[in-house]
Amino acid sequence: MTVEANKETLGFQTEVKQLLNLMINSLYSNKEIFLRELISNAADASDKLRFEALENDKLMEGDPELRVRISFDEKKKTVTISDNGIGMNRDEAVLNLGTIAKSGTKSFMESLTGDQVKDAQLIGQFGVGFYSAFIVADEVTVETRRAGAKNDTAVRWVSKGDGEYTIETIDKATRGTDIILHLKKDEKEYASEHRLREVIKKYSDHINLPVVMKVTKQVPDESAGEPKEGEMPAMKDVTEDETINDAKALWALSKADISADEYKEFYKHISHDYSDPTSWSHNKVEGKFDYTTLLYLPARAPFDLFEMEQKNGLKLYIQRVFIMDEADNFLPRYLRFIKGVVDCKDLPLNVSREILQRSAVVDKIRGACIKRSLDMITKLSKDAEKYAEFWAQFGNAVKEGIVEDSENKDKIAKLLRFASTNSETPVQNVSLEAYVDRMKDKQDTIYFLSGESFNAVKNSPHLEVFRKKGIEVLLLTDRIDEWVTTHLTEFDGKKLQSVAKGELNLGDVEDKEEEKKNEEVKTEFEGIIKQIKEALGEKVSDVRITHRLTDSPACVVMNDNDMSLQMQQLFKQAGQEMPATKPIFEVNPEHELIQRLKSEQDDSRFANLSEVLLGEAILAEGGKLDDPAGFVRQINELLK
Ligand code: ADP
Ligand code: MG
Repeated sequence: MTVEANKETLGFQTEVKQLLNLMINSLYSNKEIFLRELISNAADASDKLRFEALENDKLMEGDPELRVRISFDEKKKTVTISDNGIGMNRDEAVLNLGTIAKSGTKSFMESLTGDQVKDAQLIGQFGVGFYSAFIVADEVTVETRRAGAKNDTAVRWVSKGDGEYTIETIDKATRGTDIILHLKKDEKEYASEHRLREVIKKYSDHINLPVVMKVTKQVPDESAGEPKEGEMPAMKDVTEDETINDAKALWALSKADISADEYKEFYKHISHDYSDPTSWSHNKVEGKFDYTTLLYLPARAPFDLFEMEQKNGLKLYIQRVFIMDEADNFLPRYLRFIKGVVDCKDLPLNVSREILQRSAVVDKIRGACIKRSLDMITKLSKDAEKYAEFWAQFGNAVKEGIVEDSENKDKIAKLLRFASTNSETPVQNVSLEAYVDRMKDKQDTIYFLSGESFNAVKNSPHLEVFRKKGIEVLLLTDRIDEWVTTHLTEFDGKKLQSVAKGELNLGDVEDKEEEKKNEEVKTEFEGIIKQIKEALGEKVSDVRITHRLTDSPACVVMNDNDMSLQMQQLFKQAGQEMPATKPIFEVNPEHELIQRLKSEQDDSRFANLSEVLLGEAILAEGGKLDDPAGFVRQINELLK
């Protein structure tokens, strides 16, 4: 087969095209990061080779000194990034450089607005990677050969970033990947030693791989003989290899020797996020087990934080040798947004995911990682403004911790934030501690109301009496809140209670006088309650007088153990059969319409009004009516 014959032109996956466009337009103020991304990939490729070579040292092909070499040609305006890592075969090149294999990519792309400023923010969540080469290059050539493969099975991949690329088989003597950037006219500054050195130092100082460049130095020219008195010695140019970066794994250095900027750059290297992290926690532990953890709290949630199948986890090294990405045994799922590195001495180099699953060492490190992560978040929570930003990004993941991590439930409970009737805005900024501090004198319960949306709960009739008495109610409107409240039934010795469930019991907040009056009303209404019950029949499980309403005539409540209406709807949407739980119908004896009902003589009008009041109460709750048309007919009947 001739070389021409196996040259193919292929199209990028649609998502890649979109990403390329977006990137080129939105990263113009931060162009130099392309080098970090490409060096980062070279480091990953070297890590992978080091790992595979543990089993098969032939892959090193007699050249075990892993490094990435940066070179440039000022005249041709090219920069070449050349590694001797794992390399790619043809299929891998097509897959890795022509498609994005992350779940949720499609919906992420669909969420783009076309507004460049907004989209530029979003792309940070996505991670830019290899395609960032096209920020500065109008053509990119990748020549790569997989370690251990024959020279004549190497591939050349070429693209102008315009939707297509060509791929052909070539001959390549050395393993690994060369990436040749043909710089755009305006970007020729990168074809210079000074500029490259600057960018490498800035972004790639502490990756675990030497970044080498051939540099020209002036040294004294001995052949010119001793300089004469008062004259400078003659000099000559020599070129030699220089390792530009420090090339020591950052986490292995001592904290005192690492600057904040270095921590931040390292984060960007491991996280594929290009914004700064919010904070980090770096710990070396020596003792029964020796290990180092470096954990980061990102500032922004990745676009796929809530994609179930998305992989997460820390980068695992064993004595500086990279073992795996996304080692998910070191953190529970709810902390999946934490990024970082674990380096451990006490695991075998040939460790597998299966072994990790039942290792005492891993359990120990996992405990420490959870503690450090929660400590980091707790520390952040002392700064209300910063914490609000964190909460908006990651709050719903943290909430999962209440369900997932019962051991740390108390700690996590303190991190929770909710909207409340105290602020009357959808912003979730009320902690349980703050709520407890503000509790009324004799109040012993933490009240909450959950519902579909903030607007739906904000005006719920259930809040009326609480407003009147000035008792704060937490407003829970995220889907996960239903699960949270079933698992978090107490905080600081105080019961959490839904105001939409069970009989209203304001406990000691209610005074004796009121209680007595309520009893009297109950007796007074006994007959009418019975009559309503008969009229509504199977539609309700009970009817009773309530004092939780001030403005509304009636409301529906659930039994203490019943699922809320929202929860029932969630299950129904998920296609699950729900046993029909009937609500309890509560009526407000003070209300004009209930008074009218009391004096209604006509049986059919009585039944009609009762049903309308029940329908309204269900609607006010965000519930759905079984027979909406029937409801409308009944209302019209009354309007006549
Ligand atoms: P990421 O690094 O987040 O996986 P990139 O867009 O940076 O995403 O790279 C895509 C993929 O291309 C990598 O996962 C890797 O498989 C492959 N790749 C990129 N650069 C190299 C390289 N220098 N050597 C080997 N494989 C590479
Ligand atoms: Mg990458």
